[in-house]
Amino acid sequence: MFHHAMKTADNNSPHYRTCNLTEAMCGIEITVRADKSLDIRGDKDDPFSRGYICPKAVALQDIHYDKDRLKHPVRRTQNGWQRIGWDEAFNEVAQNLKRINRKYGRNSIATYLGNPTVHNYGALLFAPGFIRSLHTRNRFSATSVDQLAHHLAAYLMFGHQLLLPVPDLDRTKLFLILGANPAVSNGSMMTAPGVGRRLQQIRQRGGKVILIDPRFTETARLADRHLFIKPGTDVLLLLALLHVVFEEGLTDVGPLAAFTKGVETIGNLVAEFPPEKVASLTGVDSSQIRLLAREFASAESAVCYGRIGVSTQEFGGVCQWLINVLNIVTGNLDRPGGAMFTLPAFDPLSAPESLAPRGSFARWHSRVRNLPEFAGELPVVTLAEEILTEGPSQIKALVTSAGTPCYRRRTAVDWIGR
Ligand code: SF4
Repeated sequence: MFHHAMKTADNNSPHYRTCNLTEAMCGIEITVRADKSLDIRGDKDDPFSRGYICPKAVALQDIHYDKDRLKHPVRRTQNGWQRIGWDEAFNEVAQNLKRINRKYGRNSIATYLGNPTVHNYGALLFAPGFIRSLHTRNRFSATSVDQLAHHLAAYLMFGHQLLLPVPDLDRTKLFLILGANPAVSNGSMMTAPGVGRRLQQIRQRGGKVILIDPRFTETARLADRHLFIKPGTDVLLLLALLHVVFEEGLTDVGPLAAFTKGVETIGNLVAEFPPEKVASLTGVDSSQIRLLAREFASAESAVCYGRIGVSTQEFGGVCQWLINVLNIVTGNLDRPGGAMFTLPAFDPLSAPESLAPRGSFARWHSRVRNLPEFAGELPVVTLAEEILTEGPSQIKALVTSAGTPCYRRRTAVDWIGR
C-alpha cells in the first residue's frame, strides 16, 4: 500500500494509505516534500486508528529510500552478489527446484514465510498456491514462533484455526492481560491501534486494567494493578483462577450453554489447583488470586487476553485454551465487553478450504524431533536440524519469503540450493 503511494506521489497533495508493517493497520497520510523526503502522519479520519501511528510508520521512508533495498534479483557468486535478470532468476530457481525434487524427493524442498506475508495481498494470495505445488511437508513460517498456541486452541475449541476471539476493548469493564505488552505492540492478535488511549478509556469509564507480567512494562504504567508472576507459571495461575470461579459457584456460561460441552469436567480438573497451592510457585499471593477471580467473574463485562509471554512457554497451548475457558465460564465469550468474534469482510468460515484451511493437528511429525504439524506446517524451531541432519527427506533447498529464519538481514526471495 505504501508502495502505491510512492508511485503516485508526484504532487503536494496528501496520499492516504495504510501502514502495512503490523496488524494494527494504522491509516497514514503521506505528503512528499520538495526535497523528496516524506511527511508521514496519522490519518485522523481513519475510523480504525483515528490518527494514531507509532514511530515505525514515520520510518517507512527509511525502508523506501534504503540504499540496500533489493529491487532486482541477485545471485551469490565467489566474488559477491551479482545482478541477474528476472527471467534468468525464475529459470534458475525453477530448474534447481525440479532437480532437487527429482534427486532427493519432494520433502527436500522447504519453505519459510515471514510475518510481512500476511500484510501483502500478493503474497497472501499466491504464496499458498506456490507452496502447495511443491507438495512438501517441510513448510515453516513465523506463525509457529509465537502464535500457534492461539490457533491450536481456536481449532480445538471452536472448530477453525481463525476463529480467534478478540477483546472488546472499547466496551469492557475489566481487561485482564497476561504476558502481553499492548501499549507497545498495539494489540497483537487483537488489532488495536492506539491501545494506550483505549486502556485509559477503560479506566475513565470506571473499569479496570489488570496486568500479570514478570516485568514492569509500558503497559504496567497504564494498568490499575500489576501482579508480578514467575515466568512460565501462568498456566498455574489460570488454573487457580478457574478453581476459585468453580469453588465459589461463580460460573455463568449464559447463552453459550446450548453449545458448550465439558464445563463440569473443567470444574473437576481445576479442583486440584487452589490458589494456596500455586501461590509459592507463581509468586502471586493466594489472596490476590482469589480477589482477581471474584472481580473477573462479577464484573459487568470482562475479558482475559494473553499473548507472547504465555504462548511461548512450555504450556503455551494450554494457557491459551484456559484463557478461552475463563472467558467462557464467566459468560464473557461472544458478548459486548468480552472476547468477541469479528465480522470480517473476508469470512474464513465460508471461504474455500484452500484459501482459509480449518486447521489440522499431528497428521504428521517432523523427521528429527518428532514435532507435530499444525495446519500443514511444522514448528520453525526444528528447521535448522532438518537442514543439518542427514538422511531421507533432509532439507536441501529452502525458499524464504519476507522472513529471516537465519536471523540475517534479507528483504526478498532468498534462494539456497545445494
Ligand atoms: S502500530 Fe505502527 S507499525 Fe503498526 S500499523 Fe500502526 S503505525 Fe504501522
